[in-house]
Amino acid sequence: MELLNQNYMKIIERINKAKEKSGKQKDEIKLIAVTKGIRSKAIKKAASLGIVHFGENRVQEVLPKMEGLPEHLKWHFIGHLQSNKVKDVLPRFSLIHSLDRISLAKEINKRSEKENRVTDVLVQVNVAKEKSKFGLSVQETEGFIEKVVEKFPYIKILGLMTIAPYVEDAQEVRPIFRELRNLAQEIVIPGAELTELSMGMSNDFEVAVEEGATMVRIGSALFR
Ligand SMILES: *Cc1c(COP(=O)(O)O)cnc(C)c1O
Repeated sequence: MELLNQNYMKIIERINKAKEKSGKQKDEIKLIAVTKGIRSKAIKKAASLGIVHFGENRVQEVLPKMEGLPEHLKWHFIGHLQSNKVKDVLPRFSLIHSLDRISLAKEINKRSEKENRVTDVLVQVNVAKEKSKFGLSVQETEGFIEKVVEKFPYIKILGLMTIAPYVEDAQEVRPIFRELRNLAQEIVIPGAELTELSMGMSNDFEVAVEEGATMVRIGSALFR
């Protein structure tokens, strides 16, 4: 069996085991294959294995790669989004994981209104307070979501996203995932049901799933 297929099968098995531990066996967990630095040929192969969700963090890099890829694929924007790239991202991506400021919400709202669509987003939270990472603080998140719901009708917030620090032992970042889940449960705002939790990468996805992730973003464990 090919390496990509083997990696995929192993990841699915590990997700399913972690799901059993979480006690939420019925919930679907979306595997988002992160394809930064990966060529279209490999993406095509991944799609042929049945992977539907793909993630990228650079618009310029992904747009040319998308040519010739199957139409049914769903693209997730997972990187820092500059306001001037919103117009390129909206038509191609089905979910933006990285809403982190009002100026960006304003631009997404404006462009979405123009295109007569409502854009699905996740709010990025910097739970670990890493200086090198984008995202709102845990304390700011509720007020931010209230504001977006109130002011920007062409945006729909589906949940929260976080990036945990890289650590050797993934158990160390369990409290971060738990905090994101608790935050999503604590925020009760009509018009923003926070049902999606995008958390977990190659190094820590099992712990994230145990803590309630609904989407895991996996690059290197799949495409190595
Ligand atoms: C690169 C990236 C990933 C995937 O990372 P791996 O460790 O390769 O699985 C996930 N999320 C974000 C935001 C990324 O930039």
